[in-house]
Amino acid sequence: MTTAANDGRIPVAVLGATGAVGQRMVSLLAAHPTFRLAEVAASERSLGKTYLEATRWILPGDVPEEARGFVVKAVDGPIESRLVLSALDAAVADDVEPLLASRGRLVVSNTKSFRMHANVPLLVPEVNADHLALLDGQEWAASGGGIVTNPNCVVVGLAMALAPLHRAFGLDAVCVTTLQALSGAGYPGVPSLDAQGNVLPFIAGEEEKIAEEPGKILGRLQGGRVVPAEFPISVSVNRVPVRDGHTESVFVKLSRRASIGEVREALESFAGEPQRLGLASAPQRPIVVRDESDRPQPIRDVEAGRGMVVTVGRLRPDPVYDVRFTLLVHNTIRGAAGAALLNAELLAATGRL
Ligand code: NAP
Repeated sequence: MTTAANDGRIPVAVLGATGAVGQRMVSLLAAHPTFRLAEVAASERSLGKTYLEATRWILPGDVPEEARGFVVKAVDGPIESRLVLSALDAAVADDVEPLLASRGRLVVSNTKSFRMHANVPLLVPEVNADHLALLDGQEWAASGGGIVTNPNCVVVGLAMALAPLHRAFGLDAVCVTTLQALSGAGYPGVPSLDAQGNVLPFIAGEEEKIAEEPGKILGRLQGGRVVPAEFPISVSVNRVPVRDGHTESVFVKLSRRASIGEVREALESFAGEPQRLGLASAPQRPIVVRDESDRPQPIRDVEAGRGMVVTVGRLRPDPVYDVRFTLLVHNTIRGAAGAALLNAELLAATGRL
């Protein structure tokens, strides 16, 4: 097994490294202070090619120098790194992630496959870092293996905005309508004739994930299990012709009355373990509240905090619910690759690697 890098950084394998999320992972690892890219793996289509040959690079700039020459491995082959970031389709992850965990690998997964399993942490490190303790009850714990997941890309932004309101005021009900970017569908994703100048009011499986994942994330760890937070979420999703950044129009009914000033204060002062531990990918302020009447906008705000900040705007009272606001989350960074990396940084900082 690969243990430590020559330069002292921890080696990492990326599964699904050629896809939309995998490319983000490779890009974020390129200049990472704690981790270094050590292995890439993808489908049979890419097997045996160099990363440069196998990848249709969709991010700005070129394929990072240090990634180019890696030969793409099989995802179920001999992966040597203890830490594995997975950006696989769920159908593949279903079998491959437990297989690697059984071989003593710590799999940090983007995929829906194990998010709702009782003993798998569904992490947003600012919100529920303590849920990492679930790892100790996993069947692979004795071998040092395990699976940690990050939520659906819409849910990351939603859970981050709801967490401080849940703590301060309680939540009675939430309604959210999404405007989701094309990169959320991977590459090549939505056909251009469906996407351009159009809105698609359906994304398979998405509404179900958005309705169920926040309760687990905001849930309490009790007796080695997560007791979910109980509040109904009404969801309506749309795919829109935006490249990166999911916009969410959110309506919240609070359990106790609060002024807009108090809600704003709760959002702006929100911070957690990543900020306390000074994790490399953690923004100083995870939520930024903007006052302009026309923000957040994907083209202006999606890169806030290197894609790790959730931008909230249009915060105002609501006559049916109590408050309403619009939020923006970078779907392939805070919603996927950056989220996985932050989870991995938390694992390293808490001595689990
Ligand atoms: P994508 O662009 O389609 O990439 C899929 C990756 O999986 C590619 O590297 C592909 O390799 C590999 N792959 C496909 N079939 C495989 C197989 N049979 N065996 C091994 N590898 C295989 O998808 P994506 O958008 O990056 O999404 C990846 C995962 O992250 C999905 O589970 C998705 O739900 C989740 N996610 C995505 C986002 C987002 O914003 N895009 C956000 C959160 C979570 P080849 O190139 O060799 O085919």
